[in-house]
Amino acid sequence: MNIVVCIKAVPSTNTVKLDPVTHTIMRDGRQSVVNPFDLAALEEALCIRDQLGGTVSVLSMGIPDTARLTDDLICRGADRAVLLSDRAFAGADTLATSYALSKAVERLQPVSLIICGKMAVDGDTAQIGPELAGAMGFPCVTDILKVESVTEEELTALQNTDGGRQRIRVKLPAVITVAKDIRIPRMPSIASIRAHEAGETLVWTAADAEADITRTGLNGSPTQVVSTYVPDRGKQTVEITGSTEEKAEALLSLLKKEGV
Ligand code: FAD
Repeated sequence: MNIVVCIKAVPSTNTVKLDPVTHTIMRDGRQSVVNPFDLAALEEALCIRDQLGGTVSVLSMGIPDTARLTDDLICRGADRAVLLSDRAFAGADTLATSYALSKAVERLQPVSLIICGKMAVDGDTAQIGPELAGAMGFPCVTDILKVESVTEEELTALQNTDGGRQRIRVKLPAVITVAKDIRIPRMPSIASIRAHEAGETLVWTAADAEADITRTGLNGSPTQVVSTYVPDRGKQTVEITGSTEEKAEALLSLLKKEGV
C-alpha cells in the first residue's frame, strides 16, 4: 500500500512573528519542528506499511529549510520525502495549500491512503485534510483515535465525535486525519541517521508539481486575514509585603487601580 503523510513545519517556540502587511507567519526554519500530530500520523503510516508492505512518502509545503525536518523523517523510516517549495506557494490559505498538496499527490500516484494530522498547532484550522480529500475526490474521516484494521480495500477506525466515539469503515483510497495520541513516534536509529546523512528530500517547485500558479500562494487564497496580532505578554508580578493589614490595603488599592 502506498501512503502519503502530510507534514507541516510549525514554530518550535511561542516566538511567532507575523508579517504586518500580509498577516502571514514569517517563518524562520531554524525554529521549526514537525507538527506533533504529523509525527503521530507518520508512525501510523509506518505501522501500516510494516503490516501490508508498500511505501510511505512524506509530503510538505514550506520554506527550503523544511527539508531539514523531512530528511529526519526519512531517518525515522519514511521511504521518500517531497518538499513543495517555491515563492509561488508563499502566503497560502488552506484552499491554496490543499490544492498544491493535491497536485503533488497526483504525481505520487498510485496512492491508497493520505494521512494528515487532525490539526496544525499554529494555523489550527483542521481544514487541510478535508480540503485535500475534496481536491482528490477521496472520502475523508477526521479525528481518528485508533486504526483498528486496514486492508488494500478498506480501513476501519475509531473516530472521536462530539458525542463520544464511533467505529467507522471507509473505502480506500481515502484521507484520514489523526489525533496526536494515535501512536508514539519512533526515534531515528543511529544507523539510519548515518545511512541518510546526505539529505534526500526531493524539492519540487510549482512547475514540478504542474500546479496552476493562479491557484497557489497568495494568488490562490480567497481568505484575507484582516488583522492578526501576538498577544501582549506585558503582565507583571507584584510582590506585596508588610503586616496582614498593610498587605490587605495594598492589595485593595491595586485592585481598585486595575478597575476590578
Ligand atoms: P490544519 O488544517 O490545521 O492542518 C491539518 C494537517 O494538514 C496537518 O497536521 C498536516 O498534516 C497538514 N498540513 C497543513 N499544512 C500543511 C503543509 N503546509 N504541508 C503539508 N501538510 C500540511 N487559512 C485559511 O484558509 N483560513 C484562515 O482563517 C486562516 N487563518 C490563519 C490564521 C493564522 C494566525 C495563521 C498563521 C494562518 C492562517 N491561515 C488561514 C493559513 C493556514 O495556516 C495555512 O493555509 C496552512 O498552510 C494550513 O492551515 P493550518 O495550519 O490551519 O493546517
